[in-house]
Amino acid sequence: MLDRLGSGLKDALKKLAGKTVIDKAAVEELVKDLQRVLLQADVNVKLVMNLSKAIKQRSLEEEPPKGMSVREHVLRIVYQELVNLMGEEIEVTLGPQTILMAGLQGSGKTTTTGKLSRYFQKKGLRVGVICADVFRPGAYDQLKTLCDKVNVPCYGEPGEINAVKIVENGMKQLKNAEVLIIDTQGRHALEDELIDEIIKINDLSKASHRWLVLDAALGQQAREQAARFHDAINIDGVIITKMDGTAKGGGALSAVAETGSGIVFVGSGETIDDLERFDPDSFISRLLG
Ligand code: GDP
Repeated sequence: MLDRLGSGLKDALKKLAGKTVIDKAAVEELVKDLQRVLLQADVNVKLVMNLSKAIKQRSLEEEPPKGMSVREHVLRIVYQELVNLMGEEIEVTLGPQTILMAGLQGSGKTTTTGKLSRYFQKKGLRVGVICADVFRPGAYDQLKTLCDKVNVPCYGEPGEINAVKIVENGMKQLKNAEVLIIDTQGRHALEDELIDEIIKINDLSKASHRWLVLDAALGQQAREQAARFHDAINIDGVIITKMDGTAKGGGALSAVAETGSGIVFVGSGETIDDLERFDPDSFISRLLG
C-alpha cells in the first residue's frame, strides 16, 4: 500500500513544485490530485473531504512564515494535514500495565499478541499472556507456541467456554507479570455476544489499554469495527497488521479517526519480530521522502 500511496502523493507534490505560480488554481489542482490518491488507497471519503478543505483554506488564508516561500508553505500544510489524518502519536508505557486485545477473527490478533509479548520482554519487562479466545479452535495452541518460543508464560484453559473465568484465573496465575496481555475471541462478525464478553473482560481486568487490531486490507468495514469496539470498551490505540501485504490500507488507517486515538504499532510480517512502533510524523516523512 505504502509504495502506491507514497508515489501518488509524491507525484502530486512534484506537480506543485514544477509550477511557477502557486495560486488558487494550483492549490485546487493539488487538492484534487491528493483526493484521488487518498480515495484510491481507501481512505474514508469524509476524512478526505475534511483534509481537502483544511489544505485549501490554510493555503489560501495563512501567510507563509517569514523567509518561507508560498510553495514551501503549501507543502508544509499538506504534510501537517497528512500527519493529522493518522491520529495522535501514542505513547507506549514501559511499565506495569494490562493490555486488552480486541479485533475480529483473522485480523492478526493472536500473532500480534505474540509480537507484543516479545516487544515488552525485549524492553526488560516481565510479560504474561492470557488466551481468552474461546471461539477459535486451536487459538490456545497457537498462542502458547508463540509464547514458548520467547519464554513468556501463557495461561489458557482449552475446552473452557467461559472467557471471563479464564481471565480471572489467569490474572491470579500471572500476578507476577508486569505486562499482562489478554488475547480475546474474534469471531467473523460483530456479534452482540462478542461485544458483551469483551466489556466484561475489560471491567474485570481493569485494562490500562484497549488496543484494536485491524487488518490493513480491510476497506470501509474497518470504520464500522472501530466504531463498535470503541463504543463498547473505549479503544485507546490501534494496531494495523499486514502492512506488508496490501495495495490499499487507507480504510484501516482512517478507522483510527473513529476511535479518536492513533496507531500504536504496525505489523509488517508473520514472524514474531515483525512489529514496528508507529510515529505519524516519521511515517509521513518516509512516505513523501
Ligand atoms: P486472529 O484470528 O486475529 O488471532 O489472527 P491470527 O493472529 O491467527 O492471524 C491470521 C493470519 O494473518 C495468520 O496467518 C498470520 O500469520 C497472519 N498475519 C498476522 N499479522 C501479520 C502481518 O503483519 N503480516 C502478514 N503478512 N501476515 C500476518
